[in-house]
Amino acid sequence: MSQINVKVNCPSCQKSLINPEVKIDDLPSIEISAKISGKSGRVYLSQVYGSYQKIFVGVEDIPDTVVDCACPQCRKPFPVQKVCSCNAPVSTLNLEIGGRINFCTRNGCKHHSVEFENIDDAYLLFQQQHPSYYA
Ligand SMILES: [Zn+2]
Ligand SMILES: [Zn+2]
Repeated sequence: MSQINVKVNCPSCQKSLINPEVKIDDLPSIEISAKISGKSGRVYLSQVYGSYQKIFVGVEDIPDTVVDCACPQCRKPFPVQKVCSCNAPVSTLNLEIGGRINFCTRNGCKHHSVEFENIDDAYLLFQQQHPSYYA
């Protein structure tokens, strides 16, 4: 029952990527400007850590394609700091409370979902969101 929600900001303009109008897992989603096979649109990811739910708007959900990810506000591509085991770039986003998360840009890769760069950040978030658990 204990879930961790990740709220993320653009590393370039620092604006929130959370879109309250598009809900995934009953929560505001993470909005990403995406280019897939030459088409531009939006991909919405779940802010629930470990959830694989996604919504594609204007782009096709093509398995195994690498998605070109950028900020919907400032349009800058998200920084890439490493390469996934599937050879696709791994993008980095900032967490609102500090720390970072990484996600693989290959659609359908099991690392496409959010992953904490530093596992301590996960504990911090968990403690913050479930204070009674530690009481
Ligand atoms: Zn931005
Ligand atoms: Zn991957």
